[in-house]
Amino acid sequence: MSGPGPAPNIIPILPNRETVVFPSMLVPMAIGNDRWIRAIDSVAASHKTIAFFYQAEPTEPLTRESLPSIGCSAAIVRLLRLPDGSVQILLQGVARTRLAEMVQTDPFPLGGVEPVDETVEQTPELEGLVLNLRAQFQKLVSAAPNLPEEMAIALANIDEPGRIADFVAANLDLPLPDKQALLEELNVAARLRQATVMVSRELEVAEIGSRIQSQIREQMDKSQREYYLREQLKAIQRELGEVDETEAAAAGLKERIAEANMPEEARREADRELDRLTHMNPMAPEASVIRTYLEWMVAVPWSKSTEDHLDLLEAQRVLDEDHHDLEKVKDRILDYLAVRKLKPELKGPILCFVGPPGVGKTSLGQSIARAMGRKFGRMSLGGVHDEAEIRGHRRTYIGALPGRIMQSLRRVDVNNPVLMLDEVDKLGRDFRGDPSSALLEVLDPEQNHAFVDHYLDVAFDLRRVLFIATANMLDTVPAALVDRMEVIEISGYTEEQKLQIANRYLLPKQIQEHGLSPEAVKFTEAAIRRIIQQYTREAGVRNLEREIAAVCRRLARRVASGESGAVVVDDPEITDYLGPSRFRHDTAEQTDAVGVVAGLAWTPVGGDVLLVEARAVPGRGNLILTGQLGDVMQESARASLTYARSRASALGIPEDFYERTDVHVHVPAGAIPKDGPSAGITIATALISALSQHPVAHQVGMTGEITLRGRVLPIGGLRDKVLAAHRAGLTTVIIPRDNERDLSEIPETVRSHLRFVPVDHMDEVLAEALLAEAQPERIAASIGEPEALAATATPSAMGLGRGGSRA
Ligand code: ADP
Repeated sequence: MSGPGPAPNIIPILPNRETVVFPSMLVPMAIGNDRWIRAIDSVAASHKTIAFFYQAEPTEPLTRESLPSIGCSAAIVRLLRLPDGSVQILLQGVARTRLAEMVQTDPFPLGGVEPVDETVEQTPELEGLVLNLRAQFQKLVSAAPNLPEEMAIALANIDEPGRIADFVAANLDLPLPDKQALLEELNVAARLRQATVMVSRELEVAEIGSRIQSQIREQMDKSQREYYLREQLKAIQRELGEVDETEAAAAGLKERIAEANMPEEARREADRELDRLTHMNPMAPEASVIRTYLEWMVAVPWSKSTEDHLDLLEAQRVLDEDHHDLEKVKDRILDYLAVRKLKPELKGPILCFVGPPGVGKTSLGQSIARAMGRKFGRMSLGGVHDEAEIRGHRRTYIGALPGRIMQSLRRVDVNNPVLMLDEVDKLGRDFRGDPSSALLEVLDPEQNHAFVDHYLDVAFDLRRVLFIATANMLDTVPAALVDRMEVIEISGYTEEQKLQIANRYLLPKQIQEHGLSPEAVKFTEAAIRRIIQQYTREAGVRNLEREIAAVCRRLARRVASGESGAVVVDDPEITDYLGPSRFRHDTAEQTDAVGVVAGLAWTPVGGDVLLVEARAVPGRGNLILTGQLGDVMQESARASLTYARSRASALGIPEDFYERTDVHVHVPAGAIPKDGPSAGITIATALISALSQHPVAHQVGMTGEITLRGRVLPIGGLRDKVLAAHRAGLTTVIIPRDNERDLSEIPETVRSHLRFVPVDHMDEVLAEALLAEAQPERIAASIGEPEALAATATPSAMGLGRGGSRA
């Protein structure tokens, strides 16, 4: 007897956790458990069916409740007994069955089962579901390597929609609970949908899988191909008797590492990297990184040095030979060198030369190197924002290199050069880190014996390097750095000094450099003065040297094209060589004017004369400031105005001027940074002159800070300012009384040409600078009509400005 009957059919019940059996499916199964073998035996003898129920965890005793409601009856198609007593069977699922009751559990479980009705409605939707599932499954079979093509054929031969879903579920590698859920679904349409979802998911997985596969294959192919080609190349090279370049390079590096005489730690690092290199595909990008690194390691002067010979007399001779005057500076340098000679291990400060461009800072450094018999190197710190520029980038960065310190050392190729750190005042600082902290470490004698460049990543001993810093001004140098330095200030040169320097140093040097004969070329004093006055405007002599070089170039051309005979370069010919003059010598005003005052300014490139202009115009008491003034200068202007208002009647200014007058203060001359308090009295004078209509004596220059009560406070940089006043042709200089003592620094040649007026109070300034006679007709003009204002302002602006004053 087989097949379901109307009354519950009593058949063996087999819980199964390894698979879910579906109707019509063939399932092979191995059974070892005695109890189950007995159940199989009873079925085999009676040709009846057996019911399979999925059970995730076995339970004992087996109860109806521990099994799912739906299972599948199955017939045993084939049975094979193995020598160890177990059996292998091939089952064919028959139909979904429901377990009604458990009848016995021993010696094997028996239960009453009933058939289950499925609901199928032949609707177009059902057809659509079937079609779609078939198509999806076909796709899956093509994409998934573990599903044989026959499966698609088998599916094509099944017509019954419920069976189609069963077939799909049975053959996919899905979690068993999912399969069981599909078995329990008695609505065929819903079952088809479930099956479709399963297939789609599998399809997606299969597609991703195959994509990954093909990518891997591609990569494998490429690297195998390269490997193969490279081996061939090697074979060819061997045939041709050529040495493998990479091997040769590695051997070369090994030798150079040995020769570089590195300290222990560096040697270990280099050896390790070399070892990595030799075990690496030489074409790999990493290999070239390592090679560059090793090239650096062997090029750094670990133990190369020059021998010092520090003879102070010799040093003095060299400094004198290269530099005119600068006696104080030379003295301090010699002191410094003397201390170093007596105590070479002294952890002293480093030298720092501060002064405008072209005053010989660099060339002093070169002379020091020459005097000590050392090599000279320089690195500019101007605009360095990034710590890594000093200390290097880590090797892991693409294109990483050592920082400037190690680069400079590699360039000079000794570990004891004189190394000049140019423009420490232009060091930047931002989010990329603070380069000054790296610099501090470089200059700190406690730390610099083990300076670690990020790129080299091993310590380098910097103690033997003689660092010299240079700066145009100290204000912007980080205080911690200033602390480590012995500052030597070098200020600008007077015209006389420039003349001497030109005659004794610059001219012979340029004449020689241009291949001219010193006997054949002469410059008259007037010619040089003309160059100084009309072609340069600087505190140092850099441009002067450049202009002299320009003249020498012209002379060299004449000699080269066959002209012979001695040449004397005289004053009038200068325009032939250098073109029309570039600067007016005396930039001071030529006439006394209302509201125009010559202020003396200090800039990092030396002193300068700034013409401050003020105009009173109809308005309502506003102060207008133009000329890109810094904050401090703007405050000076406000303080000056308040002072003028508070003293209006005493100064001869209409008391209510601010109710109907605006004051405009302008500081022309573009390129000069305009800040600092020292223009205070200048602005106040211009303002009061404009309001009171008393003209300002045009030969007077001034500098000083002003307070609200009109007191005059001292200022810095007097020497450079006075030199500038002299250059500009002023004759009287008003200075704060507290600065009187600084006058001793001013060369006699300049001092004798100027009259100095030390003052304590603004009243004294006005008494000296303003002319007693007011010029009321110009008041009317400037207050009355704005056009007249423009007309009077223009000529005064002409007097100044690096660009604007070309003759
Ligand atoms: P800095 O480094 O201060 O900008 P440099 O050292 O470059 O200035 O000087 C510019 C030129 O002027 C150099 O050729 C230098 O030899 C020359 N020079 C500057 N000062 C003197 C001096 N006192 N005596 C002789 N030559 C000088």
